[in-house]
Amino acid sequence: MKKNKYLPVIYVLAVAVILSIAVILILRPKTSETETLPDVSSTDDTAQVTVDDTTEQPLSIENNVTGDSESQSESETQSAPSSTDTTAETKPLTTSINADTGRIIVDTDREDWNLIVVNAGRELPEDYVPELKEILGCGKYLDYRVAPHYEDMYYAAKKDGITLTPYSAYRSYDRQKNNYNNLTQSYMRDYNLSEAEARKKAATVILPPGTSEHNLGYAMDICGTESTFKDTKEYAWLQQHAHEYGFILRYTAEKQPITGIIPEPWHWRYVGVEYAEKIKNSGLCLEEYLDSIGVAY
Ligand SMILES: [Zn+2]
Repeated sequence: MKKNKYLPVIYVLAVAVILSIAVILILRPKTSETETLPDVSSTDDTAQVTVDDTTEQPLSIENNVTGDSESQSESETQSAPSSTDTTAETKPLTTSINADTGRIIVDTDREDWNLIVVNAGRELPEDYVPELKEILGCGKYLDYRVAPHYEDMYYAAKKDGITLTPYSAYRSYDRQKNNYNNLTQSYMRDYNLSEAEARKKAATVILPPGTSEHNLGYAMDICGTESTFKDTKEYAWLQQHAHEYGFILRYTAEKQPITGIIPEPWHWRYVGVEYAEKIKNSGLCLEEYLDSIGVAY
């Protein structure tokens, strides 16, 4: 009987012990999980940070981003678009080369048509004829997208008492070819040069066919009232205002080593207002400027 009296107490104690063990067992894994989770994630974080530190420091330095981890993740998101964003990558525009001349044949279908560059190393396709528009009813033509801007500039100058008389506007490929060949012939004759030498010399004055901005229909040679155009009031006006209408001075003495063309203060080329302003302010020539902003041309 005595033993029976204690049995319920023993049962209660036993149940209590079992329950408390159960509670401890249930709680322990819980707390240990919540403890290990941050541990795992924190070691992951530090692992990422150290990996990031080594792999991205050069990137962040290149991007001039200061090197805390947050700005690194920013630089990650910045550098990713910039690699796809290099429109240069999406426009490998000029792939074909003229086997005869060795020049790159430019892509005339590009969206930013106003940035097409032709020069000693780059030419238009031989059959390229721009859609033309007559300017000022004077029997001279420019690319239809450029003509209205020349007219705007012409009338604005007129208001200031300046007449920007068009001298040479669009020239066809064939006309350019004749001009170039004629000058080459005269150099061979007058200077007793070989044809190759004469062609090279002629190319500093009249560009070979397809390499002139006049073949493109983007450029205008403007008449001045003095024999030296640089001394004219027309030139002074253009220097001050041409960029407001999207035109730039293309060939200067300073940039002759790059353009390969003698200074031509009368030659003004359309690039659009936005770029004309930027290029003028940069002091760079067109090729240099496009290089500086990473635009393929
Ligand atoms: Zn010209």
